[in-house]
Amino acid sequence: MEAVITKKIFDSDKVRKDFPILQRAAGGKPLVYFDNAATSQKPNSVINAIGNYYKNYNANIHRGLYSISIEASEAYDKAREKVREYINAREAREIIFTRGTTEAVNLVAYSYGRQNIKEDDEIIISAMEHHANIVPWQVLCEEKKAKLKIIPVNDKGELLINDYKKLISPRTKLVAVCHISNSLGTINPVKEIVSLAHEKNIPVLIDGAQAVHHTKVDVRSLNADFYAFSGHKMYAPMGIGVLYGKAKLLETMPPYQTGGDMISSVSFEKTLYNEIPMKFEAGTPNVEGAIGLGAAIDYINSIGLENISEHESALLNYATDEISKIEGIRIIGTAENKASVLSFVVEGLNALDIGIMLDTSGVAVRTGQHCTEPLMDWFGIPGTARASFAFYNTIEEVDFFIDALKNAVRILK
Ligand code: PMP
Repeated sequence: MEAVITKKIFDSDKVRKDFPILQRAAGGKPLVYFDNAATSQKPNSVINAIGNYYKNYNANIHRGLYSISIEASEAYDKAREKVREYINAREAREIIFTRGTTEAVNLVAYSYGRQNIKEDDEIIISAMEHHANIVPWQVLCEEKKAKLKIIPVNDKGELLINDYKKLISPRTKLVAVCHISNSLGTINPVKEIVSLAHEKNIPVLIDGAQAVHHTKVDVRSLNADFYAFSGHKMYAPMGIGVLYGKAKLLETMPPYQTGGDMISSVSFEKTLYNEIPMKFEAGTPNVEGAIGLGAAIDYINSIGLENISEHESALLNYATDEISKIEGIRIIGTAENKASVLSFVVEGLNALDIGIMLDTSGVAVRTGQHCTEPLMDWFGIPGTARASFAFYNTIEEVDFFIDALKNAVRILK
């Protein structure tokens, strides 16, 4: 299997040196970090950008007329522009900074949802959604007496597009699906999903939490109405994320939170709201997070998204082949089109025990339901062990993981 990665896509040793945490040990062994779908590690350039902000120009933004506040405001606005360019949005004002994907979905559910969803309306989501793209819609539906419709999946963990077509009805008012599944790795045909909904003038929200750092996302070409993602999964800090929304929709939506910054004028009689994006960014924003996200985008661009996805696919293919040789292994999520997520169960063993055993070898994987409980129920399993790869992972680490897994299975059985 050594020939799986036939050419050196980039210098792994060099790239790994950019991530200080990858130099540390776990339980006396080198850390093998395979929980990238939960959160990614941060390169020095991101860590330094945050440090530099606090050391040199920490100030509240859009308020001060003094130089460090102006510098901080410019850096924040520049980060928004970097995000715009990264996802090819038409305008920077279509980029709303949020705490993450969860807040971005909630923003749409509370603002767009409460304005537009009425009794007996229907919202379509899929069976493989993260709880963050289920619960906000469920709560909205309960409040409005609307209905949640679910696109089913097949045994491989692929969406059944014909069933989706049948679910679309005159009552459908919104479609919300993930671009890439966090527990299966399935890459959904989001362009087709959007275009089928648009044939009936139904807006679509895409949860891109697992996609923006694996594959080129072009929101204009996708034609998604909303696209949500989190910084921390794309090498940026925690607590920063993005809601992209088409300007014409965002402009008609009411604010989600109110307070400072989101207003243009306040009197005790009446408040006038600010323009987008500020209308949706009440209060002091996460300036360091936005700056860190901008630095993460620069970093990703310096490696190249195509190189990243090529390397990650090679890791996934190799790991899939090797893990399949272990007796009793069942891979959960075998879609034709898959990102670097390898979820599995071992016959007769508890996924949690596997996770704990792997940790004793310094291998970090996630175990459990991965915030997709309905999907686990559909597969009839309590959860999986999940290895998820990033571009800084190596074939040697996969080999180490497979050996540690074989050992764990031998001891536990
Ligand atoms: N959607 C998907 C597909 C995810 O993987 C995650 C994070 N696991 C989320 C939404 C929620 O992201 P966050 O916790 O960063 O808001």
